[in-house]
Amino acid sequence: MAAKPPSWRRRGRRAPRPEDEERFALLTQNSLDVIMRHSPAGITYVSPAAREIFGVEPESMLGRRLRHYVVDEDRAALIADSTRMYAGGPAGSRFRFRIRRPDGAVRWVEVNRRAEIDRTGRPTGSHVTVLRDVTETQELEAKLAAMALLDGLTGISNRLAFDQALQRAWRGAVRQQSNLSLLMLDIDHFKTFNDSYGHQAGDDCLRAVARAVADAVKRPQDFAARYGGEELAVILPGTDGTGAVDVAERILDAVRELKIPHESNQDGGGFVSASIGGATAVMYAGGMAGTPALLLNAADEALYEAKNRGRNRTAMGPVMMVAVSEEES
Ligand code: GH3
Ligand code: MG
Ligand code: MG
Repeated sequence: MAAKPPSWRRRGRRAPRPEDEERFALLTQNSLDVIMRHSPAGITYVSPAAREIFGVEPESMLGRRLRHYVVDEDRAALIADSTRMYAGGPAGSRFRFRIRRPDGAVRWVEVNRRAEIDRTGRPTGSHVTVLRDVTETQELEAKLAAMALLDGLTGISNRLAFDQALQRAWRGAVRQQSNLSLLMLDIDHFKTFNDSYGHQAGDDCLRAVARAVADAVKRPQDFAARYGGEELAVILPGTDGTGAVDVAERILDAVRELKIPHESNQDGGGFVSASIGGATAVMYAGGMAGTPALLLNAADEALYEAKNRGRNRTAMGPVMMVAVSEEES
C-alpha cells in the first residue's frame, strides 16, 4: 500500500518551494518591523531591523530571551504574557512595553505575538513576534492625555482633572477614614473688571490668580483646578476645617498680594480680590451617607455666604459627617 501523502497535499496545498523560503527571507530582511522566532529557551531567529531598535547586532540576541532587553518595571508583564502564551493561552497578544538599549536609551515597542503553526495547523512550540518601535506614538499619546487634563487659558488642571481628583480623594478619605476639605474660590466683581479693563486684561488676571492659587497650595496631595469661568477649586485631602481655613486665608492673601488694580471693587480696596467657600467631610464609622457631590454643594453654599457677607473673605459650611461602612474602610 502506498504511503499516506504529506498533510499539505491532503489539504490540497502545494509543496513549499525554495522560492517561497527565499521570498519569506526577503520579506523579513527588508521589514522595518522586527520579526523574531522564539522557543521557550530563547530567540532562534531575529530579523535585521533589530539592529536599529535594540541597538545591538541581531546575532547577539540569539539564544537570549526578549525579557533580557526589557526595562525592570515592564518585565513582569512580559513574563506573565509569555507564561500565558506558552501554556496555550490566547492565540495572539499585542501589547506595549519599554526596552533599554546598551547606550541607555529607552524605546517603547509594541509586539504582536502568535504561536507558530506548521503546515498541518499544529503548533510547533515556537512563537513568532512582530515588534515595532512606537516611541513617538507613545510620547504623543502621553502628551495628548496630559493636555486633556489641563485648562487652556490658565495652564492649571481643568474641570475633568478636578472631577477625577475629587473622586480619587473621596475614595482615599473613605479608605483611611480621614478628613477631606474642599475650597471653591470665585473672583469678586469680575464682570465689572472685564467691563472696565477689557476681556484680554480679564484673561491675564485670571491666569495670575490661578497661578497664585496653585502656588499657595503646598502639599503634594493638594490639588488646584479651574472649575469653570472665574471659579477655582482646591482639594485638600487629610485636612480638617481649621486647616482648610488656613489654606483659604493664605490663598486670599496671595490674591491680594498680586495688587491687580480693580477700581470699582470696594470690597477689595480697589484691587482684585476673591471669596472662598469651604467644606469638610469627616469620615467615620456610622452616620449619614455622603457623596463628593454633596461636599461640592456644601462648599458652593459657603461661597455664596462669603459673597453675601461682603466678599474678599472665607466662609466654611457645616462639617459633613460621612458614614463609612466596615467594607468601605
Ligand atoms: P461676584 O463678586 O458675585 O462673583 O461677581 P462677578 O461679577 O464676579 O460674578 P459673575 O458670576 O456674575 O460674573 C463672572 C464673570 O466672569 C462673567 C464673565 O464675564 C467673567 N469670566 C468668566 N470666565 C472668564 C474668562 O475666561 N475670561 C474672562 N476675561 N472673564 C471671564
Ligand atoms: Mg462666578
Ligand atoms: Mg465672581
